[in-house]
Amino acid sequence: MDEHDPRRRIPRTDALLRLPRVAAAAQALSDGVVRTIVRGVQERARAGELAPEDVEAAVITAVEGRRTSSLRPVINATGVIIHTNLGRAPLSPAARTALADAAGYVDVELDMGSGQRSRRGAAARAALLAACPTAEDALIVNNGAAALVLATTAFAAGREVLISRGEFVEIGAGFRLSDLIESTGARLREVGTTNRTRCEDYAAAMGEATGCILKVHPSNFRVSGFTAEATLPELARLAGARAVPLIADLGSGLLSADPALPAEPDLDSALRSGADLVIASGDKLLGGPQAGLLLGRADLIARLSRHPLARAVRADKLALAALEATLSGPEAPVARALHTDPEALRARTEAFAEDLRARLAAQPHPRQGPGPDSAALAVVPHNGRTGGGGGAEVPLPGWALRLPEAAARALRTGEPAVLPRVHDGACLIDLRCVPDETQPALLAAAAAALTATGEP
Ligand SMILES: *Cc1c(COP(=O)(O)O)cnc(C)c1O
Repeated sequence: MDEHDPRRRIPRTDALLRLPRVAAAAQALSDGVVRTIVRGVQERARAGELAPEDVEAAVITAVEGRRTSSLRPVINATGVIIHTNLGRAPLSPAARTALADAAGYVDVELDMGSGQRSRRGAAARAALLAACPTAEDALIVNNGAAALVLATTAFAAGREVLISRGEFVEIGAGFRLSDLIESTGARLREVGTTNRTRCEDYAAAMGEATGCILKVHPSNFRVSGFTAEATLPELARLAGARAVPLIADLGSGLLSADPALPAEPDLDSALRSGADLVIASGDKLLGGPQAGLLLGRADLIARLSRHPLARAVRADKLALAALEATLSGPEAPVARALHTDPEALRARTEAFAEDLRARLAAQPHPRQGPGPDSAALAVVPHNGRTGGGGGAEVPLPGWALRLPEAAARALRTGEPAVLPRVHDGACLIDLRCVPDETQPALLAAAAAALTATGEP
C-alpha cells in the first residue's frame, strides 16, 4: 500500500472507539458487537464502497442504531388471535409484570421459610390445578411438543402408540406429530382410516405391545363429510380394561368449554370424559407463555416427573412465572379478543376511521393535487380467526377498516410496525387484537402509511 493509497486514511479502530458518540452508544452494547460494527465499516472502506472520510459517520450511525434485541414489537391488525408468526399469545399485563419480576433471582425452587430446596414451579402448578380442578396433578414443560415427547417416551418407548389415521397432524413449518412420536422410539400403530375410525378399530389393534392410546385433536384442520371417530368415554373404557393410559393431545389449552368455539375440546371436559392425561400448549387459547401442560392422573404425572427426559424439557422460570400470572390475573388478551362483541368492534372501527379521516384532512398532503380522499376509507365486515391456536375454520364475525393495498407495506415497515391483513386487493385493519392503549400509535402509523403511499 503506497502512501497515496486512500486506504491509509481509514480511521483506526481505537480512534473510532474513542469518538464520544460511539463510546456513549457502546455502553449499551457488548464489546464484541461494537468491534464487529467497526470492523465491518472499515472493511467497506477498504473495499472502496465507502470513502475514508465517511467512516466515522457510518460507525456512529451503525452503533447508535444497533439494538441488543432485534425482535420488534408488532401491532397485530390481522384479526388472527393466535398468530404463529407473531409469537402466538400476547401476554397479559399481569404476566408481563411477573416476567420482569422473575428476571432476577427468584425462589422458583426454594422454600424461603426453611431455606430448603422446594418443588420447582409449585405455584404455577397450583394455579393450573386451581384453574382445572378435575385434574389430580399437573406438570409443566417447555412446550406442547415436549409434553407429547415426554408422555410417549415414558409410556410407549419400544412399544406402540395407538393413533387414528385421521389424526396425523402436521403442526406447521413441516413438523409432523407422527415424526415427533417416532423419534422417541415408540412405534405408531395406525388404526381406522382417514375419515372414519371406530372404537373397535382400537380394540382390534390392542395387544401386549400397546403402550398408550393417543387421541390428537386436529387443531388446524377439519375433516367433514362421511366421518366417524371414537369418543373419549369409549376409548376410556377400552384403555381402562387393559390398564394402558389414554392420552388426549388437545393442542389449544382451553381450560373449560367456551361457547365462542363450540367444537374446540377443553381440558376439563376431556378429563371428565375419561382421558387419563391431557396435553396442551400454554401459548394458544390459554393465552399464556410458551409451555407444555400435562394434566391428569397423579400416578401418571408422577411417572412423567421422575423420567430423566423431564429434566431436558423443563419449563424455565420466566414461563412458570408468566403462566401462574396468566391463570391468576384478570382476563388475558386472547380471551378478550375471542369474546369481542361484533357490534362493539364495529363502533370502535367506525370511530377509528373517523379519527383517521380527521387526521388526514388536517395534515398537508405532500403531493400536488387534491389531498387524501378520506371517503375511500371504508369499514367492512371482516371475520377474525383464532389462528394456529385451535378453532380451525371457525369465523369470528367482526369488522375491519379497508385501506388501499399499497398501505400494507408502509405499515409493516413503519415505526411502530403494523401487520394488517392483505386480502382481495385491499389492506384491512382489524382492531380485534389491538389493545385500546395501542390504538393511538396505530392511528399515527395508518396516517403515516397513507401519506407515504400518497393514498387514498
Ligand atoms: C400446537 C399443537 C402441538 C404442539 O404444541 P407446541 O406448544 O407448539 O409445541 C401439539 N399437538 C397439537 C394438537 C397442537 O395443536
